[in-house]
Amino acid sequence: MIRRTISEIAAMCGGTIANISAGDPAVAGVTINSRKVTPGQLFIPIKGENFDGHDFAAAGVEGGAVGTLWQRDKELPEALANVPVVLVDDTTEALQQLAASYRDALNLRVVGVTGSNGKTSTKDMVAAVLSGAFRVHKTDGNYNNHIGLPLTLLDLSEDADAVVLEMGMSEFGEIDLLTRLAKPDVAIITNIGDAHMQQLGSRAGIAKAKLEIVAGLRPGGLLLINGDEPLLHEGMKQTTLPEGVEVQTFGLGSDNEWTVEAVTGDAISSKFDVKGQNRLQRIALPVAGAHNVSNVLAAIAAAKKFGVPDEAIREGIHGLKLTGMRTQPVRAYNGAMMLNDAYNSNPTAVRAAIDLLAGLSGYRRKWLVLGDMLELGPDEAEMHGEIGAYATPDKVDAVLTYGPLSQHTASEAAKQFEGSSSAQGEKQVRAFEDKNELAQWLRAQLAPEDLVLVKGSRGMRMEEIVHSLQSV
Ligand code: ATP
Ligand code: MG
Repeated sequence: MIRRTISEIAAMCGGTIANISAGDPAVAGVTINSRKVTPGQLFIPIKGENFDGHDFAAAGVEGGAVGTLWQRDKELPEALANVPVVLVDDTTEALQQLAASYRDALNLRVVGVTGSNGKTSTKDMVAAVLSGAFRVHKTDGNYNNHIGLPLTLLDLSEDADAVVLEMGMSEFGEIDLLTRLAKPDVAIITNIGDAHMQQLGSRAGIAKAKLEIVAGLRPGGLLLINGDEPLLHEGMKQTTLPEGVEVQTFGLGSDNEWTVEAVTGDAISSKFDVKGQNRLQRIALPVAGAHNVSNVLAAIAAAKKFGVPDEAIREGIHGLKLTGMRTQPVRAYNGAMMLNDAYNSNPTAVRAAIDLLAGLSGYRRKWLVLGDMLELGPDEAEMHGEIGAYATPDKVDAVLTYGPLSQHTASEAAKQFEGSSSAQGEKQVRAFEDKNELAQWLRAQLAPEDLVLVKGSRGMRMEEIVHSLQSV
């Protein structure tokens, strides 16, 4: 974590010090949450939509903070009269400036990961492959925005060798800001989906917004793009790369610079050979799905950029643990197997999940359990219908839905399923209005050698279904 005196902090974020007489203590880390202050931290009051952190600065100091930032034009309360205070024009900007300045002072390798889907998964993978050679830090959970990313940087210890940063966005300009703060040596774009279409206009717009990540790349840096996405190739034509930056593509298509051969997989793992600048034979990835194979290729390419030995890469992948609820294997009731993919959902990610099920054989029945995809904008009903049409009976044996929008998924899927049956009985589509009812109904159907995949947007909390189907 950052360790600097209050006067050093002021210089780093362009602030001035109030209460000089209150002393110039060294701070040990920063926090924006007065309820989680640990002694010695600097409190940074952030103004949100529904709250103003300035209201909690005094509580932060009471909890052990040794100083606070403060928006210059706000009156300082009596409670802070004897506390070292750094006055700034805007506390969020000051947080960012402080983080950027701290990052510049550190001698470390930085990897930035953006994309519509797979950021957190790829971040975990990059951290895993680098950890055999370096002391690696990574974004905690999903701390990927204009506040989370600076906080991640400020949490770095001075002796860190590498950091992997997730960069999220919903509008133009956001990745530009994050990449300029982080100044990555390697930038990864995992894929282009259709989230945030409303703000960005089109999938081409989404590609353009992700490509903003090049703006902060350091000289000699590497941009890794998913070469299976034509829009990224298109977008690259309009992108000016900083001097000395190299571009490499990764993906399942054989024309990518980093790709795979001889892929085999089941519900919990994939094995493959990597074909790239050098070959790596029989890599064992302990998670399922072609999308994760693509993600790990980016991680391998990043590791090679930093000279990580093949054996360390192999071991890092072997020991990989993804953040929960991303294609997470769980034992289900009555000997069935379940994939908890309930963290989030959108059309691209659901297609990847359906492809995953389609590619798996040896199961008695494959159950696809889908909750609504939220925040898709005015075409949401149609987009749910398209997913239903994609979930054909040759890929899955049953589609169960929960939520009003998913009724569109169910009705389109039902058209695909009409008249189809398998040796195990009728293939079916059912729409439920109640999560519990869905879980109870499915529980009664489950048999050994069944496979269930559960997915939905965060707001749908589909993990509740996972929990009721889990074997204890
Ligand atoms: P968020 O924007 O919510 O932070 P994220 O980009 O961090 O999401 P992850 O949490 O890694 O993404 O993965 C979320 C889901 O996206 C996974 O459960 C999976 O369904 C899907 N996914 C992951 N990688 C890919 C990929 N390369 N292509 C398509 N879908 C993917
Ligand atoms: Mg994420």
